[in-house]
Amino acid sequence: MQIYWTKINKIIDETPEVKTYMLDCPEGFTWEEGSHTHFALEGFNAGEKPNRSLIRHMSITTLPHENSIGITTRIKEQCSEFKTILRNMEVGQEVAIFKTHSNVPLKREDKNVYLLSAGVGLATFRPLVLDYLERADNVNQIHSLNIDSTKDFLFTPIFESAPDKKFTSQFVDNRKDYYEEVKNLAADKEGLFYVVGSDEFLQQNIDVLLEQGIKPEQIMLDKHKQQLPAFLTLNVSM
Ligand SMILES: Cc1cc2nc3c(=O)[nH]c(=O)nc-3n(C[C@H](O)[C@H](O)[C@H](O)COP(=O)(O)OP(=O)(O)OC[C@H]3O[C@@H](n4cnc5c(N)ncnc54)[C@H](O)[C@@H]3O)c2cc1C
Repeated sequence: MQIYWTKINKIIDETPEVKTYMLDCPEGFTWEEGSHTHFALEGFNAGEKPNRSLIRHMSITTLPHENSIGITTRIKEQCSEFKTILRNMEVGQEVAIFKTHSNVPLKREDKNVYLLSAGVGLATFRPLVLDYLERADNVNQIHSLNIDSTKDFLFTPIFESAPDKKFTSQFVDNRKDYYEEVKNLAADKEGLFYVVGSDEFLQQNIDVLLEQGIKPEQIMLDKHKQQLPAFLTLNVSM
């Protein structure tokens, strides 16, 4: 396993609680849209075993041609040791990234694509949307639906509806509106539905989609293949 140590080159305050850390691209490091990586802080591999409290999965919110690796995360006042350290980091300091992989590349199968996300889950979709806006080949259209109760919506210059490019972006701030809209979107029985958020959020979305007649193979999750069956079944307790 190759560990890439790299420097923070910029810190963007996206909203009062959300920051994007832009990292230099190490030589030889590449990725595709929808990738996540292991993002680790100094000292994570100092002991015999990796220190998990200094490592988090994070999506890469940029595309390679942007020349920086973007990591977007919410840091609340009450936060973990990891985020407490991260909050105090500055441009020029080093972090490590390793084991980078995309479970959710943009499928170009002449279908309508629906991107369903909660909060910073939108970070996973930013590179998919950029990739589509640059080259729409074999994608009919994209519709993004994001729920964020803070109402501080992310990446709004990119996530702005562009009818000429067949891109629609919707933000909502409450669950009622969100799930009503998911049901409307699920009227498209041929669509591809990508879902990113907490495991509880994934399960609720999957339940709604399956109930509406969407098939498990039409639902894309940022999970390893072997984890998918546990999620892609209807939760009968609903
Ligand atoms: C494939 C994948 C991709 C991911 N991509 C991203 C991504 O792009 N961006 C991202 O942000 N996350 C991403 N995650 C989730 C990420 O790995 C972390 O699990 C998540 O950010 C939570 O971080 P944390 O554990 O440091 O907790 P925190 O975010 O610090 O805390 C989680 C919650 O617990 C509360 N809390 C924490 N500590 C305390 C405390 N001491 N007292 C009281 N309350 C507390 C916080 O207020 C918060 O509500 C991804 C996960 C996976 C599996």
